Amino acid sequence: MSVSEKQRAQYLAKHWGLSVRHALYRKTGNWYHQLSKFPGALLDANGYVIFDTEKAFRTCSQLQIGKQVGAPHGIKVIPGYVHVSADDDFSEIDSKLQQFDKLDKERKIYSRREQAFLRDYLFGRGDRGTCVICGSYLPTSLLVAAHIKPRASCTDAERRDFVNNVVPMCLLGCDALFERGFLVAQEGKVKVRIEGELEPRLKNLVNAIDERPTIAWKLGRFRYFRWHAKQNRATLQSL
Ligand SMILES: [Zn+2]
Repeated sequence: MSVSEKQRAQYLAKHWGLSVRHALYRKTGNWYHQLSKFPGALLDANGYVIFDTEKAFRTCSQLQIGKQVGAPHGIKVIPGYVHVSADDDFSEIDSKLQQFDKLDKERKIYSRREQAFLRDYLFGRGDRGTCVICGSYLPTSLLVAAHIKPRASCTDAERRDFVNNVVPMCLLGCDALFERGFLVAQEGKVKVRIEGELEPRLKNLVNAIDERPTIAWKLGRFRYFRWHAKQNRATLQSL
């Protein structure tokens, strides 16, 4: 997927520090979709012009506003146009964006492969598995191979230690609550770390798992659960 003009507009508006509610980008600066929120900005490869109000936009004599917005001589001739970057700078941003896109794609492919490998290790050919948090015996399509200590925080050795660091968790709430630190495992039990008024469904869920012994509590996993609990100590508070 190439970087879209919408992504470019958002990236450049942020990169150039524009406080606008809508930004549109066109490299050549001579044709745009409608600007619909104000303050809004039209951007080209070398700069931008901001319209504080819809009136300022509609009455701009350099624009031909119909269904689309034409700027026959480019937005660079509009008073207030701010020249920001040379073409070189833009190519640099452009290549960075392409690079992020590529990295993102590679990361997705890698994490899909890793997940397939870990699922194979956890579930083999079986079509059911047990969530280590709530104990539900579920179709494997509702379970994920969850890292106790997130992959990104692991050392190389820990990454290879998937036997201890990776366990099945369900997609019915346990994986999300564990990942966000709203529950941890200590002394062999699941401990919920949410306080305050809870919405009924969430309340039922956490009541069912709080203080529940977990089948995942094994010697090689203590360090990972300890890390996770320590890391999420601060989340002992209302949602
Ligand atoms: Zn579960």
